[in-house]
Amino acid sequence: MSSIAEKLYTIRYKVDETSHLIIKDQDVCLHCETKECQDFCPADVYHWMDKESMTSVAFENCIECGTCRIGCPTYNIEWVYPKGGHGITYKFG
Ligand code: SF4
Ligand code: SF4
Repeated sequence: MSSIAEKLYTIRYKVDETSHLIIKDQDVCLHCETKECQDFCPADVYHWMDKESMTSVAFENCIECGTCRIGCPTYNIEWVYPKGGHGITYKFG
């Protein structure tokens, strides 16, 4: 019999050590006025860091929705599928 916690989960992560999300050119982010990656990502993966002048990528939070592949206005995010066995698992039902 599974526990309540087991029954309630809908997604499960197995985190890879290398990012499957790569900012191609931080200079492009520097000049990006909207920085909308901070808004369109449902998992809060992207954050603009003023001090470092760069977009940080918390790739381990990614739920692989794929939005950033088309959401960045300059297509500055490279998205590769996590290696086999890593990434997210969805549970339905
Ligand atoms: S929207 Fe694209 S270019 Fe703009 S800050 Fe985010 S990743 Fe960089
Ligand atoms: S694939 Fe979705 S959840 Fe993952 S970083 Fe892109 S927008 Fe965020």
